[in-house]
Amino acid sequence: MAKTIAFTGLDEQKIRLRTTIDANIKKVIDHGQFIMGPEVGQFESALSAFCGARHSIGVANGTDALQIALMVLGIGPGDAVFVPSFTYTATAEVILVLGAKPVFVDVDEKTFNLNPADLPRAMAEAKAAGLKARAIIGVDLFGLPADWDAINAFAKDHDLVAISDAAQSFGAITATGRSVGTHAPITTTSFFPAKPLGCYGDGGAIFTDDDDLAAVMKSIRVHGQGKAKYETVRIGLNSRLDTIQAAILLAKIEIFREETDRRNALADYYTAGLRDILAVPEKPAGVVSAWAQYTVRVRDRDLLKTELGKRGVPTAVYYPLPMHLQPAYQEFGRGKGSLPVSEKLSDEVISLPMNPYWTEADADYVIESVQSASAVTA
Ligand SMILES: *Cc1c(COP(=O)(O)O)cnc(C)c1O
Repeated sequence: MAKTIAFTGLDEQKIRLRTTIDANIKKVIDHGQFIMGPEVGQFESALSAFCGARHSIGVANGTDALQIALMVLGIGPGDAVFVPSFTYTATAEVILVLGAKPVFVDVDEKTFNLNPADLPRAMAEAKAAGLKARAIIGVDLFGLPADWDAINAFAKDHDLVAISDAAQSFGAITATGRSVGTHAPITTTSFFPAKPLGCYGDGGAIFTDDDDLAAVMKSIRVHGQGKAKYETVRIGLNSRLDTIQAAILLAKIEIFREETDRRNALADYYTAGLRDILAVPEKPAGVVSAWAQYTVRVRDRDLLKTELGKRGVPTAVYYPLPMHLQPAYQEFGRGKGSLPVSEKLSDEVISLPMNPYWTEADADYVIESVQSASAVTA
């Protein structure tokens, strides 16, 4: 009785929003302002209203958002940036693109996020290598905010800038009521289609409360433009948010809070049904996660994947190799065994479908499938 299940709710969402999205795209084609059209500014205002950041800056993708955050700080050769090893490759990539050096930090086994207790060791590593430590990029992996109180405190004590890579966590809220976008001096996110708030192509945004940083980052977004259109005052990028993507996102942000609430309800339901069978993701009380992924840990991941596949339940592995062991980055790390939690998680994690449009019966099918697979994998 195997059936086919989608890994996300993007099909249901498309059916729900199709009329609005088609109309929004048609408006852009009619007015013809494809580059920095009015929808970009409208969406930036909607982002700020949603998360409370003073400035929201639409950019071409989440990777550029991170690169612009490092560029505005003038980070380059001779500088070190602290970054968790258990993350998506883009977080480490931008540091190297700018000629700076990543110093990989281990993560917490329960939250999957940067472990602040490992920062002093990373600081010593940077110093020993003769590098100037400049910034910490914390990642809210799978949608759960990192320990921003601890990261910000460490940054303050050591004259570093904290940058929040919130590519997976836009929509999340801490227990004290602070929305993603306001947890660090600079926050970046991605609207890649599979992210919690995704468009129909590439897109990203940067958030800050600092007027000066915002002005410079807006200039970097358009080739380092000065006051006049063809005046170039700094090295920049071509990294504008596409007008059609902004038009699509304007429709999606309207229902995003409701979708996030439904993701949280599904995650709670999964956790209640699965906590006795395997290691479920831990979300501190009072936190709203964006639940980009619902990620569990098992010893025999391949077997669970195969058994669930037989019942039509898709799974995914984010991420099978930590950054310090990646072929392209390993020369900047300290090799196998150096960041044990990141390495262990890379071997054990597996993500289940996360669909805000599901009924409890849909979730029950996944829970029952994991239960019956566990009879085999135990
Ligand atoms: C997706 C992602 C990015 C990059 O975003 P793009 O829009 O694909 O460039 C960066 N960091 C993390 C943690 C991500 O998940």
